[in-house]
Amino acid sequence: MRRVYLDHSATTPVRPEVVQLVNKYLTETFGNPSSVHAFGREARKGVETAREQIAALIKAKPEEIFFTSGGTEADNMAIVGTAMANQTKGKHIITTQIEHHAVLDTCKSLIKQGFEVTFLPVNPDATIDLELLKSSIRDDTILITMMHVNNEVGTILPIKEVGQIAKEKGIIFHVDAVQSFGKLPIDVNEMNIDLLSASGHKIYALKGTGCLYIRKGTKIAPLFFGGSQERKRRPGTENVPGIVAFGLAAHLAGQEMEAEAERLTKLRDKLIDGILEKIPNVQLNGHRTNRLPGHVNVSIRYIEGESLLLMLDMKGIAASSGSACTSGSLDPSHVLLAMGIPHEIAHGSLRMTLGKGTTEEDVDYVLEVLPEIVEKLRSMSPLYNSMKLENNEECSKCTQKR
Ligand SMILES: *Cc1c(COP(=O)(O)O)cnc(C)c1O
Repeated sequence: MRRVYLDHSATTPVRPEVVQLVNKYLTETFGNPSSVHAFGREARKGVETAREQIAALIKAKPEEIFFTSGGTEADNMAIVGTAMANQTKGKHIITTQIEHHAVLDTCKSLIKQGFEVTFLPVNPDATIDLELLKSSIRDDTILITMMHVNNEVGTILPIKEVGQIAKEKGIIFHVDAVQSFGKLPIDVNEMNIDLLSASGHKIYALKGTGCLYIRKGTKIAPLFFGGSQERKRRPGTENVPGIVAFGLAAHLAGQEMEAEAERLTKLRDKLIDGILEKIPNVQLNGHRTNRLPGHVNVSIRYIEGESLLLMLDMKGIAASSGSACTSGSLDPSHVLLAMGIPHEIAHGSLRMTLGKGTTEEDVDYVLEVLPEIVEKLRSMSPLYNSMKLENNEECSKCTQKR
């Protein structure tokens, strides 16, 4: 059976060039970068090359890149580290309602420690209102933390404009760029970004590796103590294979960015147009054009996203749903709800994220299989059949009242 992986926003396979390099660093160049002998020096060289490769991709200086265990740690370090180092200046943080939980939950943890957090609402297409942002800024605002691309719906946020506002007000600006790093051009200077999180496993490198870019002069406290690695900002023996993998993957992503963005945008639009054309009662979630190449999120009315995922899986198609039902809760995703999508529509959400291995044949296969599955599911749905489907329907699955 055909196997089609359309969940690249969740994770990616490791690309062959990276596998080869990792193998070398696991078996030959296995030294501790802090050691003075040749084994150590060679490992150190690998780490520093990776630092240069990653810095180059976002127009930063190598010494501004700090390796972490992934995007989640980088987000924690950026937010808690800034809060701890700047709390005498103020205790107010601004973020959005559609952030990844690595940002949302970190901000929430600070509320318990006496910080105040403004969670900005978003427009129906997941973009933000810059005037609202401006009016939310206070004298005691120390940090704005905002994602570049939303992982669930693919919308690109106006990072450059927000960076300008943050700079004018002297507020530290953190960007969770895990979904855009290596896929969209980023210039930390032009965009006035002070802190930026990225992750290896979203760009064909290893899980458990990421980095935080820290602009020189930005006040930030470390989360960990215990050694002088990463200039004491992130002590602990470096994950050398993971770091060199991340570096090479970033380098290759930079080389391929333009061509791959063009290719994926075409495939994405073919998939979106095909779905909208072949399946009635479907809506696209997120911005139509200002979205990540390769990112599709649709709500298919009168079906459950979970059943849809299972049926797609049986046909060899790996996608993800727009609800958090898999995590045990029956509530739809906080992102879709923040966009104002009603529960019953959010429940029928489907995210398909394309990547390096995705071909036009894959898209054709989905466009052949998906309409059949939707028709089958709808034919079994009492909701669909009884046609009590207008605006007053209730969301029987949700624990929350609408
Ligand atoms: C995947 C992801 C993260 C978490 O990164 P990990 O390396 O998996 O910890 C953070 N933010 C966004 C937007 C993501 O998509």
